[in-house]
Amino acid sequence: MTTSGRAIDCKAFVARLRDEVATSVAALKTRHAVTPGLAVVLVGDDAASSVYVRNKGELAEAVGMHSVTHRLPADTSQEDLAALVRQLNADRSIHGILVQLPLPRGLNADAIIAEIDPNKDVDGLHVVNAGRLSAGLPGLVSCTPAGCMKLLRDEVGDLSGKHAVMVGRSNLMGKPMAQLLLAADCTVTIAHSRTRDLPAVCREADILVVAVGRPEMVKRDWIKPGAVVIDVGINRVPSRDPVKAAQGKTRLVGDVDFADALEAGATVTPVPGGVGLLTVIFLMQNTVKAACMIHGLDESSL
Ligand code: NDP
Repeated sequence: MTTSGRAIDCKAFVARLRDEVATSVAALKTRHAVTPGLAVVLVGDDAASSVYVRNKGELAEAVGMHSVTHRLPADTSQEDLAALVRQLNADRSIHGILVQLPLPRGLNADAIIAEIDPNKDVDGLHVVNAGRLSAGLPGLVSCTPAGCMKLLRDEVGDLSGKHAVMVGRSNLMGKPMAQLLLAADCTVTIAHSRTRDLPAVCREADILVVAVGRPEMVKRDWIKPGAVVIDVGINRVPSRDPVKAAQGKTRLVGDVDFADALEAGATVTPVPGGVGLLTVIFLMQNTVKAACMIHGLDESSL
């Protein structure tokens, strides 16, 4: 087996971003007397969501932000949740609001997202921010695609004229990522579950971004030699060890077969330890951006 590809060191990249965010927060505090504030709202007791929310709160504090977490019971009403969002919209100490998704059954996530002040919508999900992105106007961009884009620029440099294939078209990931690639002058193909001959479409990609939610779907012969592959998928599958698998032990894999991607000569993000790390740090970056927008400050001068 030959492995001519390379795994992207996302940990080192994220460590650099974390330092950058901490520097921006310190500059906002000392030069402008603004402490960026992030509010995370968790409804219900989903174990995975609870871990994500705790990580977000801890990182926000670690980079020097003001951080609040609202934990609400699973039977919270739509109106009570909307009222909390409105209260956070009006709270001058809060610059970023994130309502952890998915919400428990019975709550309408779209209606809640629509309540968030677009200037505090650090998940970039409000239609105003989706519209700003597609119109090329400044706004808040969903954390995972924003992180993937920064990573791509770091890895590839000028993206102009590259053929980028985005597999997946969700509002959270596929659509904003495709818009960002387009804004970077890539030629963009968006593929999805109805795409014909997906392997052939993927083989055309200089840059292949995959956000599908299907374990190790992208195989060696889907990847053009030398392509840069961003694997957004996070899937839990049974452990390789049959004894552990029988005990219910699992492992995380992406949407791309990582060993195959290396064999194909790709530069590829690993799972775990890849794009997932970027998402949380970009939430902090977006909170800094929101604080700058709200206070009329130039983020690049921090
Ligand atoms: P969604 O389920 O919202 O979207 C999945 C997309 O994949 C859809 O557009 C769907 O097409 C497409 N798709 C499904 N099956 C196929 C197939 N066989 N061939 C081609 N396309 C297919 O998922 P998300 O975008 O929210 O997330 C995708 C993955 O990324 C998940 O594993 C999720 O856990 C992970 N994720 C990771 C993040 C991170 O921080 N690393 C953040 C966000 C997501 P169609 O529209 O036609 O149904």
